[in-house]
Amino acid sequence: MKNISVLGSTGSIGTQTLEVVENNGDIRVTALAAGSNIALLERQIRRFRPRLACVWDEKKAAELKTAVADLDVRIVSGMDGLIQAAAEPTAELTVTAVVGMIGIRPTIAAMEAGKDIALANKETLVTAGHLIMPLARKKGVRILPVDSEHSAIFQCMRDGNRIHRILLTASGGPFRGRSREQMREIQPEDALKHPNWSMGRKITIDSSTMVNKGLEVMEARWLFDVGADRIQVVVQPKSIIHSMVEFEDGAVMAQLGTPDMKLPIQYALYYPERRYLPGKRLDFWSLGQIVLEKPDFENFPALSLAYEAGRTGGSLPTVFNAANEYAVGRFLDRKISYLAITDMIAAAMSRHRVIENPSLEQILETEQETYEYLRTAE
Ligand code: NDP
Ligand code: MG
Repeated sequence: MKNISVLGSTGSIGTQTLEVVENNGDIRVTALAAGSNIALLERQIRRFRPRLACVWDEKKAAELKTAVADLDVRIVSGMDGLIQAAAEPTAELTVTAVVGMIGIRPTIAAMEAGKDIALANKETLVTAGHLIMPLARKKGVRILPVDSEHSAIFQCMRDGNRIHRILLTASGGPFRGRSREQMREIQPEDALKHPNWSMGRKITIDSSTMVNKGLEVMEARWLFDVGADRIQVVVQPKSIIHSMVEFEDGAVMAQLGTPDMKLPIQYALYYPERRYLPGKRLDFWSLGQIVLEKPDFENFPALSLAYEAGRTGGSLPTVFNAANEYAVGRFLDRKISYLAITDMIAAAMSRHRVIENPSLEQILETEQETYEYLRTAE
């Protein structure tokens, strides 16, 4: 029986991870971590009986402690608690499904403790890939991608085959085909409707601006050791092709399936084994055709900014990501317009002096500086 820790257990990926665990019945969950949703976390604790649970919010952690006083579970809080949950001694694998750069330190802590990582938290690789990937090699731990595109690429790989090009598929989001002018009035409720996937709020907004695809270009660059210029984004509106890999000889391998995050989650949890997964299967007769398009860099400039950040590297991906995290929060709070999200990323990137090979401290400082700049610029 495999033991796992799930960070972000109350979110979209976290709850689907626990569904996969429940359906299979042979994984033990030894640690759970959430931000503040203690009602759901309590139900998860009662169902999965972890040894440790973390709530970011200290007050909520105290409330939860009282609520589960009848159980043998340790409740912790804050970054220290999150790190303890990530590195829970009996876990062999840690699922990183928290949202944002908050995931960096716990991911590093889990790896230091020798855990394999089922990585959903792409912001960690985007900003600290140059620290994470060498650490994985040093510690002999696996980074198993949960992001559907990266799981698809991973599933297409054969040992010893060199990747010539990655074809990273994108749905194009809910505003595909619109001009920037036509996106001026977009409200959070419009952007929170993704055509194919039901996901957390931040990544849903990121998908609509194409920031998500930009982050995924940078994520793929680290996971598969391929330069940003050999990663091509291909728009495939129905999210049936999850991504493709072109090898040296021109052969292209693709992974297809209905859009269901449980597949990449289950693949990461049981790799290299494939297991039965209940759910809808792809029906090629009703699908009929698969449409492919070029991405629209002009109306979705965030994608060009991401390529620029990915090519430049150093601390620039951190600025791209931190500016986006800040701006998405402000947009969801209705404080800035939709188009301002990308404008803020561009502004933060253009004033930044790039630090090559930043340390963890420099990454976290760059994050704070970016927030500070945007706060004062608003
Ligand atoms: P959600 O917003 O649905 O969930 C985020 C989770 O993180 C929640 O459990 C939340 O707890 C928890 N959390 C937030 N802040 C903290 C904190 N400070 N400490 C501990 N836990 C915290 O996000 P998603 O599941 O959509 O996304 C998670 C990650 O996976 C992101 O990096 C995203 O880019 C990536 N991803 C998601 C996909 C998807 O289909 N959803 C697909 C591919 C990648 P609480 O509920 O209490 O707030
Ligand atoms: Mg994805």
